[in-house]
Amino acid sequence: MRVLPKVEPLAKKPLRGKAIALCVLVVCVVFSAGALAVTMSSRAEHPTQPPSSQSEPESGEPETLPVIAPTAPPPTTRDIAALEGKKLVALTFDDGPHPTLTPQLLDFLQEQDVRVTFFILGCNAVNLPDIPRRAAAEGHQVCNHTYYHKDLTKVTAERLTKEIEDTAALIEELTGSRPTAMRPPFGAQNSAVQAVLDTPLILWSVDPYDWSTRNADKTYQRIMEGAHDGAILLLHDYYPETIEAAKRIIPALKAQGYTFVTVDELLAARGEAGPGEVVRQRL
Ligand SMILES: [Zn+2]
Repeated sequence: MRVLPKVEPLAKKPLRGKAIALCVLVVCVVFSAGALAVTMSSRAEHPTQPPSSQSEPESGEPETLPVIAPTAPPPTTRDIAALEGKKLVALTFDDGPHPTLTPQLLDFLQEQDVRVTFFILGCNAVNLPDIPRRAAAEGHQVCNHTYYHKDLTKVTAERLTKEIEDTAALIEELTGSRPTAMRPPFGAQNSAVQAVLDTPLILWSVDPYDWSTRNADKTYQRIMEGAHDGAILLLHDYYPETIEAAKRIIPALKAQGYTFVTVDELLAARGEAGPGEVVRQRL
């Protein structure tokens, strides 16, 4: 088995890096407390929400990226012809990586021999580079969910490009491959968002609102009721209840005859999508 290269520490000014990281942490905590209070009442219209540590810091975060050696590209996509006639479902996880829950999920996915799609945040991945690298090395699709989880329909054109490009560059640095799909935070998109993308814009056909209920039983139940051939299922690897639900959902859907595919595999099997094209499912 290939040994993943170690992440190199920042070569220059380590103290300055630590100080910036500390400031970022403090600003994140302060911002997120305020943001939580402000957004509680408006979440119903937003299918996803950012976890608590994702507010943008005041300082220029992308300048503090650690130096990471690129890894080999992920394993090749499975034989698409073999998916013909099968009931397919694409399980997707947003807002990670989470320091403990995502590795737990990866362990379970490995046991189950299931590949999924992660829509990750740059601001989380930059601090946990080994997790997306592991996910990619294990055959999962690692995709773009922007850097700071902003509503892309409410930012400047410059910020819009930066949110997408900084995250795409980070994913390429971590996994060796540029992301092949993008999901906007909250599912919020318009023609300006579509226009800057070099990948399809992936939404979902089943949303159990796991971030809202924080209830494994409800998440399990809603996914099982909503699952269908060609579905894209939305979950968040940021809540313990969701991981608990996923551990029941995967064997249950397998028992119903579903084959788990990544979003790339679903599109390859059922029809490719162009840059900026909105995809919710592939029947
Ligand atoms: Zn999200």
